[in-house]
Amino acid sequence: MPQDPRFDDPGPDAQWQAALADGQFVIQCCGTCGAAQFPPAVICRACHGAMLKMVPASGKGTVYSTTTVRGREGGHDVSIIELAEGPRMMACVEGDPEAVRIGQAVTARVAAGEPPRVVFSPEGGA
Ligand SMILES: [Zn+2]
Repeated sequence: MPQDPRFDDPGPDAQWQAALADGQFVIQCCGTCGAAQFPPAVICRACHGAMLKMVPASGKGTVYSTTTVRGREGGHDVSIIELAEGPRMMACVEGDPEAVRIGQAVTARVAAGEPPRVVFSPEGGA
């Protein structure tokens, strides 16, 4: 049975994690229709094409929704960030979780860790 060449390389999630491990925040861009998408997938969610490539994300976004998760050690932010490229992703906005506002401009960085992850800071500093 012939193998589908789309499955020869590491999968889209593994590629995304590998880029993060190199300190790069990337998203997928469709070579057929130009749509940007996150999370990464094997096909484009807009046109179902398979010509996807990882491109550096601008790191710019705005807070689409936000909540504060409270624990014994205090609270932290969990937000949905609408990226400048269009897709939305769940991430933490650093700083005072009570100060995070819908529509606020935020900037991404890759936080080291196991695994590394994308976190956001309020634009212009916390
Ligand atoms: Zn497409």
